[in-house]
Amino acid sequence: MSDLERIPDWMQPDTTPPLAGVDLRAWAAEFRDVYTVAEALCKTPFVPQAMYGKPADVAGAIMKGRELGLDPLDALGCVYVVHGRVGYYAEFLRRRIIQAGHSLRIVESTDSRAVIEATRKGENEPKRASFTAEQARRAGIDLGKYPADKLIARATSRLCRQVFPDVLSGSLIVEDLEDLERILCVMERDYGAEFRSGFIAENPAKLRRIHRYFSAVCGRGSYPPVRCNVTDFSAVIGADGQVNPCFFIPGPRASHAGDDLGAVLNTESMLRLRESITQGARPECARCVCSMWRAPESRGAGNFLLRNPSAGTTSGSASPAT
Ligand code: SF4
Repeated sequence: MSDLERIPDWMQPDTTPPLAGVDLRAWAAEFRDVYTVAEALCKTPFVPQAMYGKPADVAGAIMKGRELGLDPLDALGCVYVVHGRVGYYAEFLRRRIIQAGHSLRIVESTDSRAVIEATRKGENEPKRASFTAEQARRAGIDLGKYPADKLIARATSRLCRQVFPDVLSGSLIVEDLEDLERILCVMERDYGAEFRSGFIAENPAKLRRIHRYFSAVCGRGSYPPVRCNVTDFSAVIGADGQVNPCFFIPGPRASHAGDDLGAVLNTESMLRLRESITQGARPECARCVCSMWRAPESRGAGNFLLRNPSAGTTSGSASPAT
């Protein structure tokens, strides 16, 4: 065995007591077994080219796959390791979404654009994600000889992160949580004056809420309670002119800012939609990451979307989509 292939010291038998909640000895023993298998497997055609000759990567992929209920060879076709992070092939992502009872379909697939649509189990409104060759070019992504396949893969990955973070047990997000915790601690320690002056618009408690939300996504605790009256004082206009009650709930069809905005905000369908949000009938609100509550006493007249009975128009503000 060469130095490069030597089992690292931290994999040798461990004599330290187990961490609370983690049977480290059992985990290390299992990893040693997996590593032995990986040493043999990594030189066979069963492993993807990028893992060829890399037993640690192969072992990591097998262990990760095991958490997801995959057998070792299946894991090698579904899980990859890049720059020390675990990722998943798009085909596997689609399979997991469907296995979890959600529905998914490819709406459009060309060499210049892919659009994927999925609907969460128990919900009616599909969500879409797209990825274009132009976006790939700007991000420096080489689409290779099969651009349509790569665009579908990117759109799938985007959709999965946005709509189905739970499907992957949050394995990527857990790492991000630890980063976010560190960043929040530094911000609270070093930027008190900026929080107080409003230079940092959101307060620490609200930033902590984001951490709590994604902790819940990862199965670590409950979702923070949602309190939102954003549709009382704001609306969102998309780049295509579509008027929506907030960033996450699409407005009725034919709600276009090119028309009279006041009238658009007061169509029967828009009023009904806002009422259903106020009544808590929208599933999007139940786990919203970005709910917004403004106490009525802190709002000025211009903060309200008020129906003007005489003119049938609305006063107030609308937030452009970013
Ligand atoms: S809770 Fe979220 S989804 Fe619901 S209205 Fe507020 S911002 Fe929109």
